[in-house]
Amino acid sequence: MCYIFISNQKMEKFMTIVHHMKCACHRCLCVVSLENAIRKDGKYYCFDGCAEGHERP
Ligand SMILES: [Zn+2]
Ligand SMILES: [Zn+2]
Repeated sequence: MCYIFISNQKMEKFMTIVHHMKCACHRCLCVVSLENAIRKDGKYYCFDGCAEGHERP
């Protein structure tokens, strides 16, 4: 007997993975979650200052 089995538990885990990506700012090495990221011009930043290129102190 040969079959592929994906348990519901496994599927749930897969669905709840929070997607993270690196802040689009090249001066930072921070990683942001897509839920909390500041989105600007289709890129994701960790906070407002990053999105504005660190013009503010
Ligand atoms: Zn950043
Ligand atoms: Zn930055």
